[in-house]
Amino acid sequence: MRQLLCEECVTHDRRLREGSFIIFAATVEEPAEHARVVKGRAKPPTVEQRTIHIHADRQQTTQVMDSAFYNCDRCNGKIRPGDPVYALTVWIPARQSEPPRWEDAYLYA
Ligand SMILES: [Zn+2]
Repeated sequence: MRQLLCEECVTHDRRLREGSFIIFAATVEEPAEHARVVKGRAKPPTVEQRTIHIHADRQQTTQVMDSAFYNCDRCNGKIRPGDPVYALTVWIPARQSEPPRWEDAYLYA
């Protein structure tokens, strides 16, 4: 799972901080989940990054969103180029290795 988050959403989520850490400890039922949080300044979005492909009822439609900004994946707020932004990656080490770095396409770390 990966998300772009605004500074406000990260500030209000006590689980999140910069770096690499265990975000959910293992339980009897579930293995631990690991998180990587990279902070930076938002790059100008590309049209490709702002294009959504929607598959529904065996049809595919494409929606191109405004590429003047990103939207926070949590609050939907606008993240404009130069704004502080956090890239969150969450994975389950018991099931997969750490996902490759993708953050550089979205932010200047
Ligand atoms: Zn937000």
